[in-house]
This record gives sequence, C-alpha cells and structure tokens, in this order.
Amino acid sequence: MNTGAPAPTLPMVAIIGRANVGKSTLFNRLTQSTQALVGDQPGVTRDRHVGKVSYDGQSFLLVDTGGLTGAEDELGALIRRQAEAAVAEADLILLVMDGKTGPLPGDEEVVSFLRSTGKPVLLVINKMDHPGRDMVLPEFYRFGLEPMQAVSAEHRLGLGGLLKEIVQRLPPTAAAPEAEAAIRVAVVGRPNVGKSSLINRVLGEERFIVSDRPGTTRDAIDTPLHFQGRDYILIDTAGMRRPSFRQPGLERIMVLKAVRALERAQVAVLLLDASEGVTAQDLRIASLIEQEAKGCLVGLNKWDLVAREDREPRLAQVRRELGFLAFAPLVPLSARTGLNIGRLFNWLEVIHDQMGTRVGTGRLNQVLQEIIGRVKPPLFHFRPVKFYYLTQPETFPPTFVAFVNHPEGVPESYRRYLVKQLRDKLGLTHAPLRLFLKKRQRRGS
Ligand code: GDP
Repeated sequence: MNTGAPAPTLPMVAIIGRANVGKSTLFNRLTQSTQALVGDQPGVTRDRHVGKVSYDGQSFLLVDTGGLTGAEDELGALIRRQAEAAVAEADLILLVMDGKTGPLPGDEEVVSFLRSTGKPVLLVINKMDHPGRDMVLPEFYRFGLEPMQAVSAEHRLGLGGLLKEIVQRLPPTAAAPEAEAAIRVAVVGRPNVGKSSLINRVLGEERFIVSDRPGTTRDAIDTPLHFQGRDYILIDTAGMRRPSFRQPGLERIMVLKAVRALERAQVAVLLLDASEGVTAQDLRIASLIEQEAKGCLVGLNKWDLVAREDREPRLAQVRRELGFLAFAPLVPLSARTGLNIGRLFNWLEVIHDQMGTRVGTGRLNQVLQEIIGRVKPPLFHFRPVKFYYLTQPETFPPTFVAFVNHPEGVPESYRRYLVKQLRDKLGLTHAPLRLFLKKRQRRGS
C-alpha cells in the first residue's frame, strides 16, 4: 500500500545492440512478467520503451534504446549516438548480440566504446535456441565480457539467470526514507520552457527558506525548501539546473529524465512556454504524468511575453488541449518577473493534501448511495447493475474500488459520471483519482 512515502530512485538498465538482435523481444519478455503483477496499475510500464521490472525484491527501469532514436542504420553513427545517450543515463548496459550469426564486424568497436564509458556491461547472447549454439558461443569470448548470458528471448530461455545477473550488478537502492510531511515536487517540461529559471528564481527568493544541506539520492540532488509553514522537496534540482539536453533526436532521453523525476515526486509542475502554447513534446510529458497518476499543476511560464489580449484565449486553448489533465490547475507565471510564484506553491499544497486524502468507509458508502440514487446505472442484459460498496485502499493518488455485480455492464459514460461525482462530493477536484470496478456477486460474499 502506498503511504505517500517517497520512492527511492530506481536504477536504470539500458538495452543496447544492433538491429534484429532481438532487443525488443527481450525487453517485452523481461517487462511482461512484471506487468502481469502490477495488473491494472497504470504507469511507466505502459510506455513501449520504458518498463519497470521487479525481480527478487529489487526493481529497475528497463529501457529499450532501439526505440529511442527510431530507425537504426547499420551500426555506425546512429547506434553510437543512441548508445551514448542511453549510457549516460543508465546504471547498467545490456549489450545484446546475435547468437545465430555470431559476432559481426563492428561489434568490437561497440564493446570498446562501452568499455571506455566505465559503465558496467553485461553481454547477452540472444537466439541461443538453435542446434549450432554450442559452436557459436565460444566466439563471443573474444570480447572479454564474462560471464556472458546465453538466452532465447523468444522461447523464454535463460531469462531467470539473466535477471539474477542484472540485479546483482545494480547499485543498492537507497531505502525509502521515513514517511515525511514534505511535499515532493518535480518540475518537468521540454527544454527551454524555463525550468532552470523557475527553480533558480525560487531558490533565490528570500521568502523560500532553503535548507543548506540538500538531500542526495544517488546521482540526484533534491533541495528541501520551506515556504509559508510547509516543507517542500524539489526533486533533482541539480538535473534541472544544468543546461538541458538540446541535441536533436534525443527527445526520448528528455522523457526518461522526466520519468525518473516523476517516479519520486508526488506533484509535478508541468511547465509550458505560454508564448508558444502546447506542443507535441508537452503532450508527451503530460500523458506520462497522467499515466503515473501524479498530482499536477500546469505552469504557463513566460506569461510576461503573452500580450494582454491573448491571455484569456491562451488559457482556454491550454485547458482544451490538456483536457485529459482537467484536474490540474493552470497557473500563469513568470520566472523572469516572479509573477505568481507564491500562488504556485499554494496550489502545490492544495494538490498534495488532496492526493493524501483518506475517506472513511461510512462516508464513502453514504456518498455512493447518493450518487447512484441520483442517476441510476443503466441495465445490463435487462438486469440491474448493482453497486454494493466502495472502499479506498490507497492514497497518492486517492484510489477507490467499487464492488459491482456486473463491472462489464458499466458503460464508460457512467464511470465518468461516478468519478466526477466522487471528485465533487469528496473535495478531490485537483487530484488524479482512480476508480476500479470489481466483480462481487452479492454484498459481503
Ligand atoms: P529549461 O531548459 O526549461 O531549463 O529553460 P531555461 O530556464 O534555460 O530558460 C530558457 C530561456 O527562457 C532562457 O533564455 C530564459 O531566460 C528564458 N525564460 C525563462 N523564464 C522566462 C520568463 O518567465 N519570461 C521570459 N520572458 N523568459 C524566460
């Protein structure tokens, strides 16, 4: 159960290799087992190229770099660039080679490049499900990357052994600190929207009291802050203050950075450049926030650049384009002039408190009866759909489970009505909210 305690940074493992060695199959196999466990919990696991894997009590993020840059060409520049970017972020590299063809020209170069980075590399020989496999294997010893892992991603051979080797090589995950009252905030957004300007503004203002010893979680620097009676932690402030990644074709790395910061945050500030409006990259990050079910505030930065007469239409446009984040307040602000910076933090407090709201069973069921009394659920195969009761197993975000005789008979429109009503009646208008419908034959059974 999620108590709202901050999650430690997950180690990241990157899969590197040329086209057709089976990177995606391996990625899918390794992440699928976990997805079955997390079930209907949305998250990074939905992203095609980033997945969470848990094995033997340890979790890590697995990145399929094959998807990072789109089409791969024959080795050379593209693989190298893809590898460089992923390697910079990763804690461990899985270098995948083809056990059917044996080593190929150019493999040597990739190995020596990876070696020069100083990151740990695990050599995985895939497709080891053919008769000649024992003949091919020794050829890979030339790379001096032992122990190698022989697997067949397609036939699910050797994956347990591989996972064991992976988790052994991961840095120890910092134990989750004690549950704390501080509000954990990540500022996310595409390059140039003003993330570092905003953070520097906040850190530079006297009314925000910055504790002089920033908390460090492995490679991330978090900054504790005090403002108007509340404690905040700005996640990965160092990463945000460094100049952003501006190389073309590496947007995925930007997304990875956002994923990592979001993992540890309770509330995200999705920063937009208000003078430009909502771009495709903004939408991509917004949908991550939505998938991760984090609290969210949309900051429209550079408001000073938006002409007075354009302001109302711009707000309406952003609201429309980010319709799926309807619970996120929009705050026009300016890192340059300081406009609305205090207001932003007041909102963070509201959002955080709603995320942590726990509603008692008595009140929940009273509310449920009111809601279904007002608009009855539609019939399902000529039979009434019955809602028996409602529970709230989790906070961060508030998560509700309704027990129903025919969950499959509840149309999406009615589900939306339920969610909207729950928000209004429970005062959860600014938090993401999850509602699961579970089958139950009759009350109490
Ligand atoms: P980051 O990549 O998201 O960290 O963006 P930066 O903080 O580096 O800002 C990108 C550019 O936008 C810089 O030239 C900033 O000076 C400028 N900028 C940031 N905030 C504002 C603002 O509120 N108003 C205006 N006019 N410019 C801003």
